[in-house]
Amino acid sequence: MSSNMLSLRRVKKYYGANKVLDGINLDIKNGEILGIIGPSGSGKTTFLRTIIGYIKPDSGEIIFHDKSKEVDILKNPDWIKKKYGFASQHASFYLKLTVVENLDYFGSLYKLSKEEKTKNINTLLELVELDHARNILAKNLSGGMQRRLDIACSLIHSPDILFLDEPTSDLDHVLAKNIWALVKKINKKGTTIVVASHELAEMETLCSRIGILHHGKFQHLGTIGELKKLIPNEQEIHIQTYPGDYDKIIQYLNEGSILKIENKISSLVIYTKSPQNVLKNLLILLPKTGETLLDIKITKLQLSDVFTTVTKKK
Ligand code: ADP
Ligand code: MG
Repeated sequence: MSSNMLSLRRVKKYYGANKVLDGINLDIKNGEILGIIGPSGSGKTTFLRTIIGYIKPDSGEIIFHDKSKEVDILKNPDWIKKKYGFASQHASFYLKLTVVENLDYFGSLYKLSKEEKTKNINTLLELVELDHARNILAKNLSGGMQRRLDIACSLIHSPDILFLDEPTSDLDHVLAKNIWALVKKINKKGTTIVVASHELAEMETLCSRIGILHHGKFQHLGTIGELKKLIPNEQEIHIQTYPGDYDKIIQYLNEGSILKIENKISSLVIYTKSPQNVLKNLLILLPKTGETLLDIKITKLQLSDVFTTVTKKK
C-alpha cells in the first residue's frame, strides 16, 4: 500500500491572468498533518477547495490512493465525499438546530444508519467536549464551541482526511489553543489532516510537514527542520546586566563565532551561529567587567523567519 493518500499532479487554476495554482505537484501522506502557509491571497483556500472538488482545476489530476486502487477525484465526486471532511472559515451548521440535531442532520446527508449516527455523535461530542451542550441551540453557543461543533459536523462520517481552512480565525488566543489541541487529538485518532493557517508558531509545533504557497507554487515543502535549513542558522543572544555598561562587555568579547553585536541600551544582542561557545565565553568574562547578569535569552530560528525570507523573494 502506498504511504501517500492523495497525489496532485500539475494542478492549475487560473482566474484570468491570476495564476493562483500554477502546476502544483504534491503528495499528501497517510496520517500526516500537512500545514499550508502563504501570504494572504496566495491561494491557500483555492488549493483546499480544489483538492476537495469544490473548484474544478483548469488542468491536472488529483488521485486518491485507496487500498489497491487509484481514484481520480474529479471523476468520482460522490465516492470521494465519503473520504473527505472539510471545515471552512465559515460555519456550515444550522443556528436554529441544537448541537445534536446538527450532527444528526449531517449524518443523514452521508446516509449513515441510525446506529452509526448515534455511535458517531456520542464519540464526537466527547472528542470536541460538547457533550454537556448537546441540547443547546447552535446560535447560543460561544464562538469556540461553535467552531468545535463545525469540526464535529465535518467528522460525522469518519472521513480519512480532514481539511481545515483557517480553523482559528476570529478566535482569541485561548480558544485558538483549544482548537489546535483538538486538531492534534483528531490526528492522533488516525485522521490525516491538511490545514491552512497563518498562525505560524502553532503550525510549527503541530504540523509534520509544511508547504509555503507563493506565486502559484509550493516554493518549499518539508519538515520544519528542513525548512529552517533554507536560511542561515543565526541565533540571537539577548543579555541584560547591571549596571549595564554594554560597550565595556563588547570590548572584552572576542569570540570568533560572533557575527554582529548590538548595544540596544536596555540590552546587548549578540548574533551568532554557535551560541554555546559565545555563552561559555560570556560567563567567564562578565565578572572581569564588573557586570552582574540579570537576564539572558536565546532566540531560536522560527518558522516565521523562514516564511519572511521565502515570501519576500520576488
Ligand atoms: P488565500 O486563501 O491564500 O488568502 P485565496 O485562495 O482566497 O487565497 O485567493 C487566491 C487568489 O485568487 C486571490 O488573488 C483571490 O483574489 C483570487 N480569487 C479567489 N477566488 C476567486 C474567484 N472566485 N474569482 C476570481 N478570483 C478569485
Ligand atoms: Mg483563505
